[in-house]
Amino acid sequence: MVLNALQKEYIPLKIIFIFIFLTTVIFANTVHNETWKRGESLITFLNKQHIRKDIYFNLSKTDKELCSEIEAGVPYQISYTKNENLSHVLIPISEEMQIHIYKNEDKYVLEIIPIIFETVEKVLTISLENTPYQDIIKVSKNKKLANEFVRTFKKSVNFRRLHKGDKIVMKYIQKIRMGKYFGSPQILGAMLKMKYKKTKYIFQNPNDGRYYDDKAKSLTSVFFRLPLKYRRISSKFTYKRFHPILKRYIAHLGIDYAAPRGRKIYATAAGKVIFRGRKGGYGNTIMIRHSGGYKSLYAHMWKFASRVKKNTWVKQGTFIGYVGTSGRSTGPHLHFGLYKNGRAVNPARVMSYSKKTLYGKSRKSYMAHVKKVKKILESKLKITEDQYAIQNFDLSYDINHNTKKDKVN
Ligand SMILES: [Zn+2]
Repeated sequence: MVLNALQKEYIPLKIIFIFIFLTTVIFANTVHNETWKRGESLITFLNKQHIRKDIYFNLSKTDKELCSEIEAGVPYQISYTKNENLSHVLIPISEEMQIHIYKNEDKYVLEIIPIIFETVEKVLTISLENTPYQDIIKVSKNKKLANEFVRTFKKSVNFRRLHKGDKIVMKYIQKIRMGKYFGSPQILGAMLKMKYKKTKYIFQNPNDGRYYDDKAKSLTSVFFRLPLKYRRISSKFTYKRFHPILKRYIAHLGIDYAAPRGRKIYATAAGKVIFRGRKGGYGNTIMIRHSGGYKSLYAHMWKFASRVKKNTWVKQGTFIGYVGTSGRSTGPHLHFGLYKNGRAVNPARVMSYSKKTLYGKSRKSYMAHVKKVKKILESKLKITEDQYAIQNFDLSYDINHNTKKDKVN
């Protein structure tokens, strides 16, 4: 499980101090909760706060890339000194990491640190009144949860065929940061019990974070293949690798596949080429947009395939160019990045589970998870149905009672 793994990781003492500091400041009421505006970048933010931009320009290439991951609409916290200069700001750049800018004597410092959050596990039961989307928001006050539910069930259920009184039970995990819902909720398992149709289930596979049904069939429709035959992985994907010498976190938002110059590179999935050209330290780069909000990036290329241009549609496996070492690179390799809704995801996690149905060992471990969660969902549903029956029984008793009374009078 991603969350558990995270919590077990080493968290430097300094970060805990920052957390305590901020919690204290919140109570002193000097922290302002803000929302990152559309079109705002770290540069425009620094400008507005009258902070020298060197703190951004002195960052490494990957840290700069991380800083460009701030999502419009993300809530962040900022506090000011008495003379209205910025004293601290925490801006999330992913669900795990955040930018911390603070004043240290006369100079500002920018660092990238892990986000500290709590997680809560909840079970939600709903007897359908309107649409699942509306009802989930009404009961949980969690819009992202409603979105996640609709997104995962959309493929297997026709929402227009649902009836009043159909039951939804779902077990999920929600992150909480500074007292507020944070990040996307994870649905561990959910069931939809319909009056006139077979009950539908979805479960999140703890091994790959994807959703499957109770027969281990995938409910995610985009599949990715390896973009090349590589020799070895020279650098893995990581949001937070604590560098022992530099004493800070360094991210690598893709996988580096070492391969000889001239090795062919293929499109990982069908899509439209949205970039072909030089892209800073990435050198010769191709970017492809796929369905499901995914984009793939191929960097340090030697040459492009002549047929592949901007706006060309490619199939999965279309030849797009050759491995090289263009841009800031120490040897021939492909830097391969995968993004979902603009955020870097680990290609290894997504690609290694690109089968439509799980089998073998991964199926076995998934089915064990299904069994456990299904039991929880079904017992919760039974409790709700029993309560409902009792309520109805009471109601009918009252009605009969009153009727008798009426007759007597
Ligand atoms: Zn790389």
